[in-house]
Amino acid sequence: MKELWLQQLSNNIDNNLDLIKLTEINKKDNNQFLYKKKNIFFKVKIPLVFINKIEKKNSKDPILLQFIFNEKELIQHKKYNSNPLNEKFIIPGMIHKYKNRVLILVTGICAVHCRYCFRKNTKQANSITICNWNQIINYIKKNFEINEIIFSGGDPLILNDNKIKYFINDINKISHIKILRIHTRIICILPQRISKNLLKIFSKCKFHIIIVTHINHPNEISDELFEKIYFLKKRGITILNQSVLLKNINDNYKILIKLSNSLFNIGILPYYLHLLDKVEGSKHFYVSENKAKKIMKKILLSLSGFLVPRLTKDIYGGKNKKFII
Ligand code: SF4
Repeated sequence: MKELWLQQLSNNIDNNLDLIKLTEINKKDNNQFLYKKKNIFFKVKIPLVFINKIEKKNSKDPILLQFIFNEKELIQHKKYNSNPLNEKFIIPGMIHKYKNRVLILVTGICAVHCRYCFRKNTKQANSITICNWNQIINYIKKNFEINEIIFSGGDPLILNDNKIKYFINDINKISHIKILRIHTRIICILPQRISKNLLKIFSKCKFHIIIVTHINHPNEISDELFEKIYFLKKRGITILNQSVLLKNINDNYKILIKLSNSLFNIGILPYYLHLLDKVEGSKHFYVSENKAKKIMKKILLSLSGFLVPRLTKDIYGGKNKKFII
């Protein structure tokens, strides 16, 4: 029988009309969501089990707004483009921007489609094949400066256990790799993904694992997630969180303070708060740097330093992130 998380994953919806129906949104007052065309690029994707976290009849619900298609996505804006970071792959599927680490797009698939995703146009085409994987592993073996591998995507933990095991076995054979960092959104969407078998695979790693969850709002946190984080931490895995600052979703110091406290309560440390990457169709999510700084000042007055995420932004074609606060 299929594992629970796989059942939950396949039980999803892929269009606004169903999402509106299930969340009982009033159609008349919310016509920006009533886009009739079926084949929109980067179609809606959200598992039914996660829709339960959306407050019924609330068209401003912070989870709903991250996943529902909005007609504003179709408006073209200057400075918003299809590849806002101008990511360069030195081997298909792999970026080597910083000396000590490489980033690998191990898949282009995700459990949800976040409307603000900066890789929505590129993740599918740039993710690896098994052939690239061998090339990547050979490259890493020869480059002793690399001590960290970052799994990104798409969502690395959407891969099945066999594939993850295969990748980890190969990395285990490279003695200069000390850290595997996994960026994932699926953990908060479907906490059941942290299965016993996956934990077993993780416990065979010779290197340290860091999981970076992508949680934007305290409403995304659940008791199930708490339980799974506990199991991960018991195996010595470090858990950090990064969020994107999103207009009308979390651009409010009270929400971000609540997010930091809620994350800490379940064993996750706030790490980064990113300004939006200017991918086309996302301008309605943008929060300016000035506003972000004002929010951060209030947060700094209310939280201990270890609970304050670093405000940061990526720059088009830039060598590294810019830390704002
Ligand atoms: S989970 Fe991450 S990669 Fe996938 S759509 Fe959302 S932001 Fe993009």
